[in-house]
Amino acid sequence: MSASATALATELLADEALVAAVADKTVAATRLLRHAARDFAPAVFSTSLGAEDMVVIDLIAGADLDIGLFTLDTGRLPAETYELLAETEQRYGRRIQVFAPRHDALEAYVANYGINGFYDSVEARKACCQVRKVEPLSRALAGKKAWVTGLRAEQAVSRGGLKPLGHDETYDLVKVNPLADWTERDVWIYLHANRVPYNKLHDRGYPSIGCAPCTRPVAAGEDIRAGRWWWETPETKECGLHVVDGRLQRKKSP
Ligand code: SF4
Repeated sequence: MSASATALATELLADEALVAAVADKTVAATRLLRHAARDFAPAVFSTSLGAEDMVVIDLIAGADLDIGLFTLDTGRLPAETYELLAETEQRYGRRIQVFAPRHDALEAYVANYGINGFYDSVEARKACCQVRKVEPLSRALAGKKAWVTGLRAEQAVSRGGLKPLGHDETYDLVKVNPLADWTERDVWIYLHANRVPYNKLHDRGYPSIGCAPCTRPVAAGEDIRAGRWWWETPETKECGLHVVDGRLQRKKSP
């Protein structure tokens, strides 16, 4: 942890009211996850190993819930994310299933657009996300009854659209969002209070971490989405993974 991150953690943990509020939210989130594991099996949690997702993994592992863990390895993730993946498996003693792009689709994409073709147009970028993220996600969710996510309502452009329990129209699944009412500060209080590992890039100016070539650090005061696909306009910043109330949800984190 950097010196500034350590100072922030100390400041957050000194606020007893905040810590107590997060403890209450933790109880509610765990209750919801328990409900999902019991009543919506088979349930799976899709983790991108972002800060919110580390909270959810810690909750699932802490309650020893029968919820499968998986991640999408796009092939272009930062080295720090792979390090965190290995560290997480070791810490919790659980394997995180890795879904990779179909090699034939990826080879066709690269042959058509070039190795970094996603910079050339929104269409080329979305085609890359389709091959590397969306198609593998559909395989990961096949045959499942519930999809657990680390989404927070605060991250969505359409605030209030995200509920703890919902229905995913695209995949016809129960969608379980245990952190729906959590703030970013809640997330960091939880991580620091429970000494949960997190991506080292968060301490280097990356509030939101996706693929390495499509993510950069943001300046103080900048929108946390500013570092994702920064060459595009905000309206196009979608990767097609989550839909809320019939609209694609623009996440502030992966
Ligand atoms: Fe491709 Fe970038 Fe989307 Fe990753 S975030 S799948 S590299 S376009």
